[in-house]
Amino acid sequence: MSRIFTNEPDQIELEELFSSDDKCLEFLAEAKWNNGYTCKKCGNTNYCPGKTPHSRRCTKCKTEESATAGTIFHNCKFPVHKAFYIAWNVCKGKEEVSTYEFARRLSLRQMTCWNFKTKIRQALQEMDSLSDNERESIQKILR
Ligand SMILES: [Zn+2]
Repeated sequence: MSRIFTNEPDQIELEELFSSDDKCLEFLAEAKWNNGYTCKKCGNTNYCPGKTPHSRRCTKCKTEESATAGTIFHNCKFPVHKAFYIAWNVCKGKEEVSTYEFARRLSLRQMTCWNFKTKIRQALQEMDSLSDNERESIQKILR
């Protein structure tokens, strides 16, 4: 499952998120490890900071997990704060923003925006096929 938004930032926080990669990674890390850290590989719950900003490294098996792993922002080819802006507007925006408009606002290629928007749409569709319980928890995310 691709996580998108697991908690609700306020307006000031949003403006920071839309302008800073570091803030985005911090936000994702907080959302991801909201209920505590567990190593995906060995289940250990102790970690130390990893090499990339806001990543975590298992103290036992040394497996490192980035803040974006398992989210739609993983392997994103452009700055994560721009991806964040698109994701936020697609998920929560009151009006539909065209990929041309995203491209203009973010100084990205229209195709880049289109590809990422498609990825978000797919993630949202994936959520549609989930069970009621799962969907309920995800609706909390997107509200
Ligand atoms: Zn581990």
